[in-house]
Amino acid sequence: MADKKFRRIGVLTSGGDAPGMNAAIRSVVRTAVQNGVEVMGIFGGYRGLVENDMKLLDARDVANIINHGGTMLFTDRCLEFKEESGLQKAIKTCRDNKIDGLVTIGGDGTFRGAQDLTRRGIPCIGLPGTIDNDISATDYTIGYDTAMNTVVELVDKLRDTCESHARCNVVEVMGRNAGYIAINTGLATGAVGIAIEEFPFDIDETIEKMIALKKAKKRNFIIIVSEAFGPDFSENLAKRIQDETGIETKFARLAHVQRGGTPTLRDRELASLMGYKAVELLLDGKSNMVVCIHDEVICGIDIEYALTYDKLCKGKIKPEDITGFSDEQIAKMVADSEIKRQRMLSVYEIAEKISI
Ligand code: ADP
Repeated sequence: MADKKFRRIGVLTSGGDAPGMNAAIRSVVRTAVQNGVEVMGIFGGYRGLVENDMKLLDARDVANIINHGGTMLFTDRCLEFKEESGLQKAIKTCRDNKIDGLVTIGGDGTFRGAQDLTRRGIPCIGLPGTIDNDISATDYTIGYDTAMNTVVELVDKLRDTCESHARCNVVEVMGRNAGYIAINTGLATGAVGIAIEEFPFDIDETIEKMIALKKAKKRNFIIIVSEAFGPDFSENLAKRIQDETGIETKFARLAHVQRGGTPTLRDRELASLMGYKAVELLLDGKSNMVVCIHDEVICGIDIEYALTYDKLCKGKIKPEDITGFSDEQIAKMVADSEIKRQRMLSVYEIAEKISI
């Protein structure tokens, strides 16, 4: 797959970190090296490009990282890069260091940066690295599975002590505005209630259900809440549940513990396959794409399409966002987003039905 044009590529991790980013870096470096292409590891996301902070990585430099959380290249949020002057510095750095293309690992902000660079002549391929799974074009993002397993492990521990003391625990989980972590960990931990922004959450109904279950001798109660509701919601919910059910209720915010730890098999596998695909696309002369997994197939999707589809799924689409797309493409986006919503709704409803 090697194209003579590519002598050296760069790789960076940007935005929020996620377990599996290291496995992705390893895969990118080794795939490139196998194809006779050098890899520059760029430190601190786009900041490393703006400030020329990087070093060449060979196959051995990425040894023994597949099993480590965090990112060996570190990550940052670089505001300067969003300004034209910062972007120009980043482009100059790429030219000075003879970087012919980039693999950028991160979330939607990172992909917008990749788009800006591609438009100015530095071909980029994005890899979805975020625990939140909030990139609609892909079924799974790197880090999501590990984060969910962390939540399950911690909630199982809370459940033990809830059972001993006949308590409730309201647990706030990450996911930014997306309820994926909450919904799936809620199902997996047998939560009696799951509060996410995507579907209505009826507090009164949950309280009634808890009172009935308490009468039926249920002792442990777990409620999973998405962080999307803001900082006070979960704590207030815990107080209200305690007041109205008479069940002692504690509140726990799992916070950044969800972002660390040893990546699961699933995340290592996804990161390795996606890293390979990113380099394959780049060396095949493709750019401005994000690597996705859709119905178990790893594929490349145009970033513009992916970001527009994402807005549509999140209900943030404006008429001017879709002017560049054909009627057929728009119809496909609408149909796919409906399938995605239905799948999520189905999990939500099943979790609700079996938590009795
Ligand atoms: P994530 O990639 O996880 O969504 P951010 O939104 O913080 O995280 O984006 C990561 C970095 O990508 C930012 O610090 C910035 O350097 C770059 N970036 C974000 N948004 C844009 C944008 N609209 N245009 C260009 N670059 C962006």
